[in-house]
Amino acid sequence: MKNSGTPKHTAPKIIPRAAHNVSRNEISKSALKVLYRLNKAGYQAFLVGGCVRDAMLELHPKDFDVATDATPEEVRALFGNCRLIGRRFRLAHVRFGREIIEVATFRAAANHSDDDHAHDDEGRIVRDNVYGGIEADVWRRDFTCNALYYNIADFSIWDYTGGVRDVERRHLVLIGDPDKRLREDPVRMLRAVRFAAKLNFTIDETVAKAIEQDRPLLANVPAARLFDEFLKLFEAGFAEKTFDLLREYKLFAELFPATDQELNADPSFLDFVRAALRNTDRRVKAGKSVTPMFLIGVFFWAPTKKLAAIKRSEEKMSESQSLSLASYELSAQQQRRIAIPRRFTAPMREMLALQPRFTQTHGKRAMKLLEHRRFRAAYDFMELLAEVGQFDADKAEFWTNIQNQSAEERAASFEISTHPQGKRRRRRRRPRPKTSSS
Ligand code: ATP
Ligand code: MG
Repeated sequence: MKNSGTPKHTAPKIIPRAAHNVSRNEISKSALKVLYRLNKAGYQAFLVGGCVRDAMLELHPKDFDVATDATPEEVRALFGNCRLIGRRFRLAHVRFGREIIEVATFRAAANHSDDDHAHDDEGRIVRDNVYGGIEADVWRRDFTCNALYYNIADFSIWDYTGGVRDVERRHLVLIGDPDKRLREDPVRMLRAVRFAAKLNFTIDETVAKAIEQDRPLLANVPAARLFDEFLKLFEAGFAEKTFDLLREYKLFAELFPATDQELNADPSFLDFVRAALRNTDRRVKAGKSVTPMFLIGVFFWAPTKKLAAIKRSEEKMSESQSLSLASYELSAQQQRRIAIPRRFTAPMREMLALQPRFTQTHGKRAMKLLEHRRFRAAYDFMELLAEVGQFDADKAEFWTNIQNQSAEERAASFEISTHPQGKRRRRRRRPRPKTSSS
């Protein structure tokens, strides 16, 4: 596209207040305070990034980022409630109760082709710390829709890259040369998909082509950063759509290779995963909490079952044990791509290992499942399997009903005798059924 290219010293197109729909009603009081005070002190003060884009799209932005020509120290001098954060690049956080307004000083990306030291061998940015004016700041941003600046001085929007047009035609366009921008930071591929899903935008042909080529570079992104990105991808309320797009652009395989393999092999697993993602989206939209361990468990389910079956064929062990062992091995493998903290993988393994126990609805051990610390998550997981016809509906109903019963009713449901006389002191262990080598 003509003006999403490189001419770095062009003047912005300035859209006056009367010609755009970003209203101050959509901007938080705190953000307005910060903008006005900076402006009064003689600095430039703009809103920038997602909040301007979302306001244009009438999506009611919640996070507000401010860009200014004041240095972080100058920002701090203006606000009592301000902390400077970041080592490599200093940002000011101005706090109003629970709300934080991030104030960044304009900076230039160190991505001039004559500056060899700013990129590593694959072209990734390794240095990004030079102050500059707004006309430099704009070119380091990723997509044209993310590079719109709302000027508090006269409520106009400054557009250097054709972002307004791209928002209007709902296209996600990378600023500059797409291949170069993806090499600098391969996470932009995931951001493309995330924004396309959230905003209902089309990924521009030029970006799609570059993704096709640069996909494997995701392997070079630090696993910890990919975990952060994983959360943004799947906990924003658009998980199902995001997942479909990740698969369409063959990015999902870069993130969860074992899962992707099973998705291709087994359509019923795809049904289950999509049902889980839909369920996550419903929860997010209803303001309920979601835990990444649940979705990770869903992604691991088919590969775990497969590996568990292999383990049982090699060595005698219970189904639960084999599931626990298999999910352990798979999460260890997965860590190389995405660093999932142990506080999520440990409960996830328990949740998967509990699944076989829902088939058992008689006796004390079955009843004990209700007291397990992972019962709730394991139950939700089982419910979801039942929803897509992959777990017995009657048994699922049993476990649903049992939760509303009194202690006595429960004992009856599990067919446990409550009479002291009837209590068998010694119960002979039933011999394990011989498993035939199937
Ligand atoms: P949302 O908050 O809805 O996810 P956002 O656009 O605000 O969207 P952030 O990750 O909060 O996204 O980033 C704020 C802004 O910083 C972006 O709009 C973009 O201009 C810039 N930005 C963020 N990440 C990158 C990146 N990896 N490469 C280039 N620019 C980026
Ligand atoms: Mg943001």
